[in-house]
Amino acid sequence: MKFATTCIHVGQDPDPTTGATIPPVHFTTTYTLDAPGESKGFVYSRSANPTRVALEKCIAALEGGAAASSFSSGCAATMAVLSTLRPGDSVVAYADLYGGTYRIFENISRPNGVDTRYAKGTSPADFESLIDASTKLIWLETPTNPLLRLIDIDAVTQLAKSRGIAVAVDNTFATPALQQPLSLGADYVVHSTTKYIGGHSDVIGGAVIVKDAKLIDPILFYLKSAGGCPGPMDCYMTHRGIKTLPIRMREHCANASAIARHLVGKRGIASVIYPMLEEHPDHQLAKKQMCGGGGIVSVLLEGGFESTSRFCRSTKLFSLAESLGGVESLINHPARMTHASIPKDVRDAQGITDNLVRLSVGIEDVDDLKEDIDQALASI
Ligand SMILES: *Cc1c(COP(=O)(O)O)cnc(C)c1O
Repeated sequence: MKFATTCIHVGQDPDPTTGATIPPVHFTTTYTLDAPGESKGFVYSRSANPTRVALEKCIAALEGGAAASSFSSGCAATMAVLSTLRPGDSVVAYADLYGGTYRIFENISRPNGVDTRYAKGTSPADFESLIDASTKLIWLETPTNPLLRLIDIDAVTQLAKSRGIAVAVDNTFATPALQQPLSLGADYVVHSTTKYIGGHSDVIGGAVIVKDAKLIDPILFYLKSAGGCPGPMDCYMTHRGIKTLPIRMREHCANASAIARHLVGKRGIASVIYPMLEEHPDHQLAKKQMCGGGGIVSVLLEGGFESTSRFCRSTKLFSLAESLGGVESLINHPARMTHASIPKDVRDAQGITDNLVRLSVGIEDVDDLKEDIDQALASI
C-alpha cells in the first residue's frame, strides 16, 4: 500500500460482528476471559485496548516500522525510549530541542544518572566528538525546534551503528509524510501525535515506532508498568486525524513555503528561516532528506522584545498559542513560551532570542494568512 492508502486503511478493517465500516471505539477497561488465563488477546486496557492497537498498527505502517506503541503524550513516549537507559549511560543530542525534551534530559534523566551531552553544531562530526563508551543513545530532532536546522539522519546513524549506539528521531515536525527516519537507519521514531499526526489541536498523544520488532518489548513493558496509556477516545481521534495527513501536509508545506517567500526582504523582517528557501544553511540536505519543507516558518523581526511582542499580539488569524501542527495557524514566541524553561543564557547562545517568532502555518487560504501577517507587521 502507498502512503495515502495506508493512512486510510491500516487498522480500519470493518467490524466483523456488525459490519460497521468504521470500527467501534472500545470503551472498556477490562475483558471477559474464556477461562482463567485464557483471553482473546486483551486483559486490561493499560496493557492493550483494541482501539489503541488499531492506531498503533497504522502508525507503525506509516513510519515503515515493525511495531509501535502509543502514549498519552509525546513526553510519555520520550520517557519510554529513555527508560531503556541505565545509570552511567549517556545520550548525545543537539541543543536546539523541544523544550519539554530538554527538561526531561536535565531534570529527570540527569538526576537519575543519565548524562546528556549537547552537540555544538548539527554536523555528524559534532555528534561524533561527544561519543564515548558510555553513549547508548543519540537523540535527533530534525528539523530542530524552533530554529529549523537539519541533521543528516543517514550520516549520524552510520556512525552510531559502527559503535552499537541506538538512534532515536523525534519526527514530530516532519511527520512520515515528509521524512521516514527508520528507512534512513534510525532505531526509534518518537512522535508527539498532538501535532500534525492528530492535526486538529484537540487531542494530546504520543507514539514510539521501532524498526526492529524486538525493540518494542521494553517499550511496551514500560507502558504497561509506568502507565501513560492513551484512552480509546484519544486513540480514535488521532486515528481519524491520520486519514487526512497526506493532504494536510501538502497544504501545510505549500502555505508555509508561500508565507516564507512572502516575508523574505519585507520591511520589519530581519530574516526568514524555512528549509526549502535556497538561502537556508541546510537547504541541500533538506532536498535530500525531506520531500517538503513542513509547516513551520521561523522569523527574526527587526527590533527587540517590545516590537516582537506587539507583532505576536496583533495577528488575528494566527492565534498566539503554544503547540503547532493543527489546521489552524498559530504564532509562538519561543523565548517566553515554548522554550521559557531553558535558561536565558543557554537560549541566547542557541539563537532563541527575544525577536524570534515561530509560525505554525495552517491550511487556511494563504492570501488571508499573508494579509494577517502584513497588518500585524504594519502595527509595529
Ligand atoms: C510537542 C512536542 C513534544 C512533546 O509532545 P506532547 O504531546 O506535548 O507531550 C515532543 N517533541 C516535539 C518536537 C514537540 O513539538
